[in-house]
Amino acid sequence: SEPDPAAHERAQDLLRDVFGYAQFRGQQQAIIEHVIDGGDALVLMPTGGGKSLCYQIPALVRPGVGIVVSPLIALMKDQVDALRQAGVRAAYLNSSLSPGEARQIEEDMRSGALDLVYVAPERLVMPYFLDLLERLRIALFAIDEAHCVSQWGHNFRPEYRALTILHERFPTVPRIALTATADGPTRKDIVERLQLDEARVFVSGFDRPNIAYRVVEKKDARNQLLHFLRTEHPDDAGIVYCLSRRKVDEVADFLSQHGRLALPYHAGLDAETRQRHQDRFLKDEGVVVVATVAFGMGIDKPNVRFVAHLDVPRSLEAYYQETGRAGRDGLPATAWMTYGLADVISCKQMVQGSELDDRQKRVELQKLDALLGYCETATCRRQVLLNYFSDNSLTGPCGNCDICLNPVKRWDGTIAAQKALSAVYRTGQRFGVQHLVDVLTGKETEKILERGHHLLKTFGVGREIGRNAWQAIFRQLVAGGYLAVDVEGHGGLLFGPKAAAVVKGEDTVEFREHREEKAPRRATGGR
Ligand code: ADP
Ligand code: ZN
Repeated sequence: SEPDPAAHERAQDLLRDVFGYAQFRGQQQAIIEHVIDGGDALVLMPTGGGKSLCYQIPALVRPGVGIVVSPLIALMKDQVDALRQAGVRAAYLNSSLSPGEARQIEEDMRSGALDLVYVAPERLVMPYFLDLLERLRIALFAIDEAHCVSQWGHNFRPEYRALTILHERFPTVPRIALTATADGPTRKDIVERLQLDEARVFVSGFDRPNIAYRVVEKKDARNQLLHFLRTEHPDDAGIVYCLSRRKVDEVADFLSQHGRLALPYHAGLDAETRQRHQDRFLKDEGVVVVATVAFGMGIDKPNVRFVAHLDVPRSLEAYYQETGRAGRDGLPATAWMTYGLADVISCKQMVQGSELDDRQKRVELQKLDALLGYCETATCRRQVLLNYFSDNSLTGPCGNCDICLNPVKRWDGTIAAQKALSAVYRTGQRFGVQHLVDVLTGKETEKILERGHHLLKTFGVGREIGRNAWQAIFRQLVAGGYLAVDVEGHGGLLFGPKAAAVVKGEDTVEFREHREEKAPRRATGGR
């Protein structure tokens, strides 16, 4: 429908007079005007980005009552209280109300006494409630936490599926779906499930310019971490993520032995200990929390100066969320990760061995590929990260990631790639990187002699390249789709879709130059 300049102006007035802000932030204005004019919208903005105004203001500008669907019953009361304080006629309907209270609010909706009503999804789709809505004028439907509709997200809510009914029963009412967490597959799912094909998609605000992203090759993870902390964050508070509880305990001990105040946090600790460690992290200075992903939800500490990953996260989305806990105060912070191909392979095997159905497995494996691509990128990491969320606000390299600060040289690796692929092929596409590197560098291990791999034409053809450099080559071959991980077998490497053309000499390959990091000084006295 036509843009309505008077209504747009009214949005500006409300921003100032009701909400007390001088200006819209980021894409708020574009989103709000689009919805005021009757358009559907899918809004992707990180937490704290300012999503609420995107539906609150259009609900006030458009005639009728705005219906907000939210699974977060615990937050509804606070939101509604804040709106009422600002003079907005708002209410909520959820299971915390008595039947009498709920009836009163429905009565107020009928009499036109409300502009904004927050509703839990299970109530919204009840037949009597839909009938009630049908007799009212509806300004819009806002579907908050829209990723709950998708099983790729981590908070799948079956009742969200039923929201399809909104489009069917109220085809002329604009709908705005909002979420902070949606990678490609989840977003596609939201659009499909909520029938938002016509919706304009707004992605913004994902950039966290004060966070410096860094990835290092995993060698001796604990000592690498210690070196990083000593040289860059000797007194700062931060979070170290590990995959397993056991490792959390070990790393916390290790850091404590080396003079850091480091506290473990994982679901295996009793509630009281967890609470105590969390409190110290929040209140004391310079505390390091070593944690599984169980830590961080709802933690709002502005001066977290670093987030370190000793194991790869499950996806770039998880990585973004976890690293996003650093530098909320806007001051410089570091997101540091150490990773190796073996980690990615074991994650893939875990996915393959899990209870997920085939389609879900495929999606999870793709997510790990995207993560590997991020680790192995030869271009700005922030660009890779933002591209993943389709946030196009960054127009050039960021200048604040390891690649930007220390650009990697590229070299023509076609011949090396051919040798590596040949080693994979001639050993039967079932061995892991270590063995393949042994073959290429001509190492006569027991396994090699046993299998007769010292007799292969490829044996020893890669002696001019060091072991670490070969490992880097294999990582890039996997990240680039030349090799794939055999997740159904033992995690060996096999040909990927791009291998054949390289072997036949029809395609060339570029690698990033392998840089030997200076090995960090060992904290422990040898092994
Ligand atoms: P989200 O729902 O995306 O997590 P909120 O809507 O809760 O974010 O907004 C986050 C914070 O930003 C709130 O404190 C809100 O008042 C503030 N905010 C939102 N829009 C603006 C704006 N245009 N100017 C200033 N502050 C804003
Ligand atoms: Zn960069």
